Amino acid sequence: MNKFTASLNSILLLIIATTLISCSHSKAGKDEMSDHYTMSDFASVKKFDTHVHANKQATAFIEQAQADNFELLTINVDYPDFPPIDEQQAIALSLTQAYPKTLYFAATFSMLNWDNPSWASAVQKRLDKALANGAKAVKVWKNIGMSFRDSEQQLVMIDDAGLDPIFNHLSQLHVPVIGHQGEPHNCWLPIEQMSVNNDKQYFAAHPQYHMYLHPEMPSYEAQMLARNNMLDKHPKMRFIGAHLASLEWSVDAMSEFLQRYPDATIDLAARMGQVQAQSVNDLNKVRAFFITYQDRILYATDLTHSSEAADQEFKNSVHQKWLEDWRYLNTDSEFTVPEVDGIVTGLKLPKEVIDKIYYHNARRVFSIN
Ligand SMILES: [Zn+2]
Repeated sequence: MNKFTASLNSILLLIIATTLISCSHSKAGKDEMSDHYTMSDFASVKKFDTHVHANKQATAFIEQAQADNFELLTINVDYPDFPPIDEQQAIALSLTQAYPKTLYFAATFSMLNWDNPSWASAVQKRLDKALANGAKAVKVWKNIGMSFRDSEQQLVMIDDAGLDPIFNHLSQLHVPVIGHQGEPHNCWLPIEQMSVNNDKQYFAAHPQYHMYLHPEMPSYEAQMLARNNMLDKHPKMRFIGAHLASLEWSVDAMSEFLQRYPDATIDLAARMGQVQAQSVNDLNKVRAFFITYQDRILYATDLTHSSEAADQEFKNSVHQKWLEDWRYLNTDSEFTVPEVDGIVTGLKLPKEVIDKIYYHNARRVFSIN
């Protein structure tokens, strides 16, 4: 090999090396600008679970949220299976004060003493105090419309005039109201016609809550109508329809609701299975729904930390649930979930849609800066 060939060879090697380096650079650059997140992005992307119940004076939920890059909204609810609402609020206050960048809370009120003329002013006082203590929203639960009865044994619906002073007050203060009215549509169907396995199991085990068996109770349509009447009366209300506003059975019904109430948002809590049941049949339609309403949907699970739960077991189940939803919304993997028969394919939503549903919408809706 003469000197000339040797230097030619080294020039060639240099060219090859440079080309390889620039190739790998452009490949890395392309990945960084990819339109979609992967499973490995899960821990690094900021996320917000806008519907959980931290009902245990413990740090396990907070620790898992911090490990998985989640902020949480814990929602107090007047639910007989939960601790009394004063106890729920005391836990929420102590945890939000200890972890102000991770946990936020929504307050609630009781229907007790409804027939007393001072009920509304007492509730208002209670809520004002909770708001002064940092509450980001107020929750109204399905006991209104489905179980609470006045002194004449009449069910009190959500559009009852007696609730107007509360809703007027919250609207004036621009405080978001999280409404869970009615039940999944399945609740009014025979078991064999229900769309998801978790509803089939739940209503088979709890016939007292299976409205198909109780035709004397208000219909699904009556519950939705009362909710809409309430919203029509309070057009300034910043409303969040919990559990996909109980319209989980149809992306068309959700679209109609979101168009009719342009300031309303909806949370996904405990209804991902219903969404997946629809995307098994028509993936493109469900995907288009998320893209069209990317500013109006809040990621949420309804994960509940109760005092009986073992902390490590709870942390594992929280992590698994969050990962499973991330896989569905971000990738096009195929997998099975217990709620749905058949193979679920992920929606592979674009990054900017994920960032809104998982984070920015929550920060906007709950006015967190
Ligand atoms: Zn809940």
